[in-house]
Amino acid sequence: MAQPVHFKAVVDRVEQHDADVASFRLISEKRLPRFTPGQFIHLTLDEYDPSGYWPESRVFSVANAVADRRTLELTISRQGRYTRRILGEVRVGRSVWGKGPYGEFSIEGRNGCERAVLIAGGTGITPFCAFMDDALHVRALPLKQVTLYYGARTPGLLIYQALARRCASELPGFRTELWAEHGAFGDLRGGRLSVDQIVRETGGTDGTVYYLSGPMAMIRSFQRTLIDQLGAETAQVVIDAWE
Ligand SMILES: Cc1cc2nc3c(=O)[nH]c(=O)nc-3n(C[C@H](O)[C@H](O)[C@H](O)COP(=O)(O)OP(=O)(O)OC[C@H]3O[C@@H](n4cnc5c(N)ncnc54)[C@H](O)[C@@H]3O)c2cc1C
Repeated sequence: MAQPVHFKAVVDRVEQHDADVASFRLISEKRLPRFTPGQFIHLTLDEYDPSGYWPESRVFSVANAVADRRTLELTISRQGRYTRRILGEVRVGRSVWGKGPYGEFSIEGRNGCERAVLIAGGTGITPFCAFMDDALHVRALPLKQVTLYYGARTPGLLIYQALARRCASELPGFRTELWAEHGAFGDLRGGRLSVDQIVRETGGTDGTVYYLSGPMAMIRSFQRTLIDQLGAETAQVVIDAWE
């Protein structure tokens, strides 16, 4: 894994999805280390003096492969004090500081598993976006079969559905199922993600590794169900714990 660095970046795009969720594109002033899909950065809004302490910050998964070593995409949902500040203050042209890359949420064939099921709730999709972006760049998947289950409250909050659809059409072995809580629409399925149904639809837990990312309550409940009721080994369930 690359050594983390501190970097100053300018915000060059802001996309507000609803009152509580926005995406930001940052351009780093300096060339960044190579990111592995699934990694995250610390983001601060305060000026950082490299001879002093790192200011208050929060961590966010990088939603792209950072192929050009400068452009980072983040999608941030308002939770508490600091994310409220981010959504309220960050505008195009503003500078921010980042620190990274960190983390090891990388999708690969663990313990001989050849299939991966990725389960994302809401903004929990971000680490999987970096994986999808990278797979499109290299035109290959690291496993024989990858199925993405992506659920959000509304169709409009399936922010990265176009990327998921592109992977499904261009990468052999990649499939996606899109769910919107508030009703089915076109090929979007209506309702909440259910891990029992996902396991049934993807042919059982044998030879499959599950990657879970999203609200903590969802992740913990899916993790327990997979291991305690559906026969998955602990090593077959990998979570991106956002707490
Ligand atoms: C690996 C990882 C990846 C993540 N990726 C994303 C993402 O892509 N998108 C997204 O929306 N969210 C992501 N999150 C969640 C995000 O980091 C939290 O939503 C955010 O930290 C909430 O901060 P808050 O100030 O709004 O909430 P608060 O509830 O106010 O604070 C959240 C936590 O920050 C800590 N904290 C409070 N005050 C301070 C302080 N002064 N200094 C330092 N820490 C303090 C506390 O432990 C508190 O529990 C990720 C989290 C993790 C761990």
